[in-house]
Amino acid sequence: MSDWEEEYDKNAVEINKPAPVEFEFPPNPPKENICFGVKNRNTSEFSRERRPYGADAGGPGGDRRRQAGEKLDSSRPLTLHVKSTSVGRIIGRGGTRIRELEESSGARIKINRGDYECEVVIFGTVAAQQKANNMIDGLLEDISRFDNYGRSHRGRGDWNDSTGSVWSHQQLSAAQAVTPRPTIDWNDIRENKDKYEALKWKDLPPIKKYFYTEAESVSVLTAEEVSAWRKETNNIFVDDLKEGEEKRPIPNPCRTFLEAFSLYPEIMENIERVGFTKPTPIQSQAWPVLLSGEDLIAIAQTGTGKTLAYLLPGFIHMDGQPVPRAEQNGPGMLVLTPTRELALQIEAECKKYRYKDYKSLCIYGGGDRRGQINMVKGGIDIVIATPGRLNDLQMNELITLSSISYLVLDEADRMLDMGFEPQIMKIILDIRPDRQTVLTSATWPTGVRRLAKSYLKNPMMVYVGTLDLAAVNTVQQTVTIVSEEEKKSYLYDFVRNMLPQDKVLIFVGRKIMADDISSDLCLQGLAVQSLHGDRDQHDREEALQEFKESRVRILVATDLASRGLDVHDITHVFNYDFPRNIEEYVHRVGRTGRAGRSGAAVTLVTRQDWRMASELIPILERSGQDIPEELVLMAERYEKHMKEKELRDPKGGPGRAGGSSSDRRGGGGRGGRDRWGF
Ligand code: AMP
Repeated sequence: MSDWEEEYDKNAVEINKPAPVEFEFPPNPPKENICFGVKNRNTSEFSRERRPYGADAGGPGGDRRRQAGEKLDSSRPLTLHVKSTSVGRIIGRGGTRIRELEESSGARIKINRGDYECEVVIFGTVAAQQKANNMIDGLLEDISRFDNYGRSHRGRGDWNDSTGSVWSHQQLSAAQAVTPRPTIDWNDIRENKDKYEALKWKDLPPIKKYFYTEAESVSVLTAEEVSAWRKETNNIFVDDLKEGEEKRPIPNPCRTFLEAFSLYPEIMENIERVGFTKPTPIQSQAWPVLLSGEDLIAIAQTGTGKTLAYLLPGFIHMDGQPVPRAEQNGPGMLVLTPTRELALQIEAECKKYRYKDYKSLCIYGGGDRRGQINMVKGGIDIVIATPGRLNDLQMNELITLSSISYLVLDEADRMLDMGFEPQIMKIILDIRPDRQTVLTSATWPTGVRRLAKSYLKNPMMVYVGTLDLAAVNTVQQTVTIVSEEEKKSYLYDFVRNMLPQDKVLIFVGRKIMADDISSDLCLQGLAVQSLHGDRDQHDREEALQEFKESRVRILVATDLASRGLDVHDITHVFNYDFPRNIEEYVHRVGRTGRAGRSGAAVTLVTRQDWRMASELIPILERSGQDIPEELVLMAERYEKHMKEKELRDPKGGPGRAGGSSSDRRGGGGRGGRDRWGF
């Protein structure tokens, strides 16, 4: 017996413990080889099987896919079969649900579509597979109440296996019967909502949020001086989003560290130690707001110093609580963030500005779940988490959230884009409502406004410059119009001409392209790394570390790396594929030219990217770059094309194809319809 066969048996026994099983024929099997539920007599649970991914697919693909499955993990992938009409539940809109599943379980999930049914193949450790499998069970539960073929599992070996006898008619009817749900008395719940809320939070200690003493040098500033300072400082914009009443005065900015933290010498020491000279614009305005205990919306991108803008007041907040930190049963600060990379980066900042020896912990999918749980049990002060994994721990009652009184929703727009809204909602249900909340976002679209309106109380808003100003003005941007076939030679030419001190981040549109280019460069004898969502967490971290430490000077990445990655010395960004939208372009370009350095971005544009031309031109114009004639022609051609299209199909609307991002930047704050811009 080979190793994997042993592994197969071990796993199969472990999962299929309560033997024996019964097999079932569907009454009308619509196609060969599909949909035969394996039902366990004792537990009424489906059984399942591990086998090489694609092994039964026949044809030349079988072996290749089997290797792919085995390379991922020593345990065998688990294959489920789901009716095509039900698989949407697993995938979710735009793949959001499947990402959540992967994030929470640590497994990787692939779906092979078929006419009638789909193969759902789960890769990863046995525990991760099982977790993903249970979650899929949960998702399909409602469907299976009505249709016991919503999902089936292919049994080990053949479906007329000797262990099996078909389900009886009684069993089938029982399985198909709709169990009546107990009725919920919503009126009663609504009437008693406040009572339940009060009961839920009644044992919590009081919290304190006000820690600010305005320095005299700040108090004496006149309204004109403040307004002039804000204008000169990245055109910073502030607003009070409190509903109804008169607007409250917005605290004056702190233009030096001492103005904000003179009462907190430990913070001052840390700042002096790292050698910063003055607060960034967002910090100047966010610190007085946050130290005054107000909720804050910070519209700012990474690279603006936003992490420190919320971390330092958070440290002071935790330390200042009436019940000392050590006596609180659980963490005091929670930062929710969209990706593992960002979580790790924030944790690094927490450690860099260590305060009162607070312990921080990163909780993210794909990381060591057991290790994370043990750390939580050991006592932790600050949790930095991606919503999927934190929600998983929360649901399994492995973490206390009621002790959190300072909550940060970091890069809220990105979290929503990634479909994390349901997890965020569930997490916040367990966080005390009188907490202080900070929300950061690079953009201000409707989804973020709604999130902010639901979870922040009377927030102030700080908006730093326009999206494009901060990031791209220091970067020299070159745009070259090429054909798809020419792209590689342009890239290789660029790489060949790199100087020893150059460091380039190459952005591509697809994971497969990242692999393709990195292996090509590797074959040319160059030290190169790649970063994309199909690489496992360890490899991703290693790739990033090698790039950060300049052990490799070429990183090929998908947009996973476009936001938030804080590598100071990238000299060039090479946009091999044009990004999906103009915001992503800005984020990518902003990876270079950081921390006062200059940077350069090279962007290849093909005819297929023509819809982006008209959005790219103003960005190039505003930062004083050359605009290739061909790009202007491209924009004109696209405009003409859209006009003609509109004439042909007036309902189609011109903005549709371009998906203009202006509303995403559009400031609800700046002259919006109401204070929230709805
Ligand atoms: P962030 O926007 O939080 O991703 O911050 C980007 C980088 O700016 C981080 O490496 C910070 O350590 C650094 N940083 C934060 N505050 C300042 C400051 N006041 N002066 C200079 N660098 C800063």
